[in-house]
Amino acid sequence: MDLFTIIKKERLAGYLDSVVFGGFGAYLSQWAEDNHLDKLAILGKEYSSAPKAYRPQLLDAIERELQNSKITPLVEIGNPISQTVPVSALSAPLVSLKGIGEKRAQLFAKLGVNRVSDLLELYPRDYRDRRKLTRICDAQLGETITIRGLIVSCDLVRARRSGMAILSCIVKDDSGSISAVWFNQPFLQKKLQAGRQIQIYGRVEQRYGQPDLIVMEYQMGEEMDASLGLIPVYPATEGLSQKAIRSAIELAWKKVHAQVQPVLPSVLLQKRSLMEHVQALEIVHFPQDLSQLEAARRSLVYEELIQVQLAILLNTPGRNKVQRPPCDDQQLLADFTAALSFPLTAAQQRVIHEIYADMSADSVMARLVQGDVGSGKTIVAAAAIVKCCRQGRQAALMAPTEILARQHAANLSPLLNQLGLRTALLTGRTTAAERNQIVQQLRSGDLDCLIGTHALIQQGVEFHNMGLAITDEQHRFGVAQRAKLRGAEQTDVLIMSATPIPRTLAMTLYADLHISVIDELPPGRRPVKTYAVGYSYEQRIYRFIDKEISQGRQAYVVCPLVEDSDIADLNSATRVYENLSRNVFPQRRVSLLHGRMKAAEKEQDMQDFRDGNCDILVATTVIEVGVDVPNATVMLICDAERFGLAQLHQLRGRIGRGAAQSYCILLHNARSQVAQSRMRIITSTTDGFRLAEADLEQRGAGEIFGQRQHGLPELRIANVFRDAALLEPARQDAIAITQGQMDMPPILQKRVDKLLSLMT
Ligand code: ADP
Ligand code: MG
Repeated sequence: MDLFTIIKKERLAGYLDSVVFGGFGAYLSQWAEDNHLDKLAILGKEYSSAPKAYRPQLLDAIERELQNSKITPLVEIGNPISQTVPVSALSAPLVSLKGIGEKRAQLFAKLGVNRVSDLLELYPRDYRDRRKLTRICDAQLGETITIRGLIVSCDLVRARRSGMAILSCIVKDDSGSISAVWFNQPFLQKKLQAGRQIQIYGRVEQRYGQPDLIVMEYQMGEEMDASLGLIPVYPATEGLSQKAIRSAIELAWKKVHAQVQPVLPSVLLQKRSLMEHVQALEIVHFPQDLSQLEAARRSLVYEELIQVQLAILLNTPGRNKVQRPPCDDQQLLADFTAALSFPLTAAQQRVIHEIYADMSADSVMARLVQGDVGSGKTIVAAAAIVKCCRQGRQAALMAPTEILARQHAANLSPLLNQLGLRTALLTGRTTAAERNQIVQQLRSGDLDCLIGTHALIQQGVEFHNMGLAITDEQHRFGVAQRAKLRGAEQTDVLIMSATPIPRTLAMTLYADLHISVIDELPPGRRPVKTYAVGYSYEQRIYRFIDKEISQGRQAYVVCPLVEDSDIADLNSATRVYENLSRNVFPQRRVSLLHGRMKAAEKEQDMQDFRDGNCDILVATTVIEVGVDVPNATVMLICDAERFGLAQLHQLRGRIGRGAAQSYCILLHNARSQVAQSRMRIITSTTDGFRLAEADLEQRGAGEIFGQRQHGLPELRIANVFRDAALLEPARQDAIAITQGQMDMPPILQKRVDKLLSLMT
């Protein structure tokens, strides 16, 4: 049977990811990996995790890719439904483990676990210290404890208001008794028979004036002894209990641990006092004591960090040498500042000096400029452009959206023209005739600076002598795009980011870059006032918005749409829009903006808002990036608890751009402590770096930009905060490896290749 036939079957079966044992997507990606077809491997993974509605499209893409690959996709899976041919027990699909059926395998796939080896690298996110049993008489309110005793009685009651089932079990040991409580699990009553031994792990809480033990986990029979100790807590998904994950890992470990290969060169293990991969794996999954566990964790963290560093280093060519004509920076700066209508802030001056120093050195520049929204990055970019052109070369400035590109052109062209530079704007909407002219002028050197969108990196756009490539709001770009814009070998690269990235993380993500920070806002800004309120305030907020509009102001209403694929969320923006336009603000001009709209429509909406022809813009996070509407003074963010801090901060940066006081209102439903504390932090500070650090601590790196945006896969075990101390050594060792001073074991190579294939 060949893969095309299997694809046909998958279609016929209704895109259930079921036509191959263990999942079609998982199967395909494994096969593709073995054949070094990276793109197909990714498509396969996406296929498994995609909502069904997207699978037909994905399957088309897979088929096309397969045809393009020109590999004869003959695969030996005789009867695909009943039989698989494992490559090795380690890389075999999960269902090869006894006791793991297809259904469970699908749940694991949600955690990114498709193969047995993935299971071993599903690292615990925490541990429960259950090394000792607590006597019931020693139970203290607020503590999480493990007790063991006899069940005396077990009663099922229904909560009066909610109707929730509450199981209440009296358990006694020789010191006393306590009532243990299970919520929503009435079916357990049969199992919890009086007279049986039980071990319970739970939290002691006050209910109706007496301490109860709220059960988090329980064991009976021979499971009891096995679950004492340091118990790992794994990343979970609905339908997959900790118990199920633990037992799957145990199964996998027993079956395949002998096949686990070393990841790091042994010299490194000695140099950094690290454990062998297999030993570290065993300890993180089955720890005996804390110090050993810490050492094992450290080893795996190091492995992960060095992989990431290697991927970054290999993904970025070394600094090229460049010849530069002499240039009088002092004179240049004097001319530049004279052309501005305001003095530069001290931070802007400092960063421009850093950039100028790079642009005078004999190797090319690679610098990231971070500055909060409104800190004035555009002017800094302009300063770099001017220097580049004075050195007789051309500059390119690329923005992630049409709107932003136009905005930049509108702001920068007059300034640059005044300094004698010739600029042009090239976007997807530039007419063919105009484009031709621009391309020609660019090639002949009659243009000094080109501003634009992705249209800039399309084929056929060639520079006569490209000296500087600037990407604005780079977190919207993939790594691949960045590399492409880098273009010629002699090109200086400057990346502007409004996402404040904590230094530790920046080092991980941009190991190849120098970093400058604009840590000061231009004078005279009025900080946005931020309030977090519950939904009972909704009507009051609408009245407030109405009042602002009466005074000639405009408002944003933002709804969560974190991923494009989130259909349910899209409805929420539409719903809010309909409610506001029909019921709440029938007299006002309300419009809707979301990522699924055609680019031209989006732009029209944005333009209307900018021109003041719209009072309320209901939008998803598409408005997050760079748009400047000084007359907008209110931003209402719905379901605010669903956004990351950095994202809330970015959104908030859209207002407070004019002279009037601006207000950001976070309408939220935050019940959990973490969500509540997020609301507290965002309302109490406007310091983007503080927020980013808090975000990183709470939610991990992927959340700061959204997984795809920073172009790196999520870290599995390392935490750039906690493990900051290991970053630098990992980086040094990675450099040594890329310079050939140390061997790269094949398995490390393979892992780095995989990371590289994901870094797009
Ligand atoms: P961002 O860093 O978000 O890209 P911009 O470059 O768009 O910020 O600048 C925001 C606004 O601040 C612009 O209107 C810009 O003209 C203005 N601006 C920049 N630098 C200064 C300064 N030193 N003094 C006063 N206004 C400034
Ligand atoms: Mg900007």
